[in-house]
Amino acid sequence: MFIDTHAHLLFPDFNSDLDEVLERAQAAHVRYIINISINPEDSLKAIELVDKYDFLFTSVGIHPNELSELSVSRLNQIKEMTSHPKVIAIGEVGLDFYRKRSSPELQREMFFRFLGLSEETGLPLIFHVRDAWEEAEKIILEKNGAINGVFHCFSGNLSNGLNLIKNGCFLSYTGNITYKNFRKDEILKKIPLEHVMIETDCPFLTPEPLRGKRNEPVNVVGVAEKLAGLFDLSVEDIGRITSYNAFKLFGIARELNEPRIAYKIRDSLYINGTNKCSCNCVFCDRNKKAVLKGYNLKLKSDPTVEETIKSINKYTGYKEIVFCGYGEPTIRIDYLKNVAQWIKKNKDVKIRLNTNGHGSLINGRNIVPELKGLIDSVSVSLNAENAEKYLKLTRSTYNGKSYDALIEFMKDCKKNGIYVTATAVDYDGVNKEACKSIAEELGVGFRVREYKQRL
Ligand SMILES: [Zn+2]
Ligand SMILES: [Zn+2]
Repeated sequence: MFIDTHAHLLFPDFNSDLDEVLERAQAAHVRYIINISINPEDSLKAIELVDKYDFLFTSVGIHPNELSELSVSRLNQIKEMTSHPKVIAIGEVGLDFYRKRSSPELQREMFFRFLGLSEETGLPLIFHVRDAWEEAEKIILEKNGAINGVFHCFSGNLSNGLNLIKNGCFLSYTGNITYKNFRKDEILKKIPLEHVMIETDCPFLTPEPLRGKRNEPVNVVGVAEKLAGLFDLSVEDIGRITSYNAFKLFGIARELNEPRIAYKIRDSLYINGTNKCSCNCVFCDRNKKAVLKGYNLKLKSDPTVEETIKSINKYTGYKEIVFCGYGEPTIRIDYLKNVAQWIKKNKDVKIRLNTNGHGSLINGRNIVPELKGLIDSVSVSLNAENAEKYLKLTRSTYNGKSYDALIEFMKDCKKNGIYVTATAVDYDGVNKEACKSIAEELGVGFRVREYKQRL
């Protein structure tokens, strides 16, 4: 799924073929489109348009280039429109000191009035900022996290971007990130995708290789493709992650928030069989949001084997199945074995188990012989070079016993012909070199795991 979070569907460019434009978007899984208004007349027409299609939503507002002395008195008109159910944001509003079609003073005044309208109505903001990033950032920082909004067509520097997202705002990228003269790839890579949306800003800013032609919502996929390359993820991954962000800000695409049992990232299919764990790691999101790459992994209850099989069957095109999720899979050893048996019988893929290595301790017996023939490889979270450090980091319920148990588990797996990789999270306080040495001593593989930084 993709969401074009910024499209000007009422521009005359779409007068003759809007229906075809919308059909093309839907066919390419651009499931929702947010139309963006630029003045009160446009906003009124937008409401009429989006009322006709379940997949369209709109913002209402006044673009900084459309302001006049009359705008202040027309704020009430905008406010009235915000109660319409398909109006999901106030925008685009902001500061444009590049074109300066109205005075900076008036722009500032209106900017603050729209911030107030957002607070009053609870609707998020869609910001247009050009040549005014420092000022916009300063205002947002002063509001100290109270502003919900997205900065569309982000073109600030890295510090602008990081400060805005630290204060709860999102950034949105358009087709210009695909241009040959776009020189900010390094900035994009440092902005976590959990704060990013994608858009076309059509009819403008058509991504490569169509640059020069009229832009339309289907081309938002081109923006996703560029990000997929930068982040080494699939285009689907980018679509889902950015759509989830749109859900968080605008409340649309609620289906994305359904808890997931099976979930695919890149070409691996993961199974989220439980949220229970014998650790409570300091770096883990399990007890917080438990959202990973656009998937809600917070289960309402542990899924049954049947529910899990049904969930697995929704996916194709994966190379391995991994028992993982936000929880310790070996806590449900029978479930784990039953699902693994079904996979072995029905799918021609390797099975991996991501575990904290406490399985034998949890179940009161050596479980490794039972995993033999079902699980092809295990990734064990080592994360520490001694028991004391391990306990501090994992706050394991098994206290002192847990570190020895995980080392034993790795040895047992190796003995039973299950390929073992010890892992260490890329987190402050985790001594990756020391962990690597332990893995080498044990004669098992080693990998550093990405740590999802929260800003
Ligand atoms: Zn704009
Ligand atoms: Zn726009």
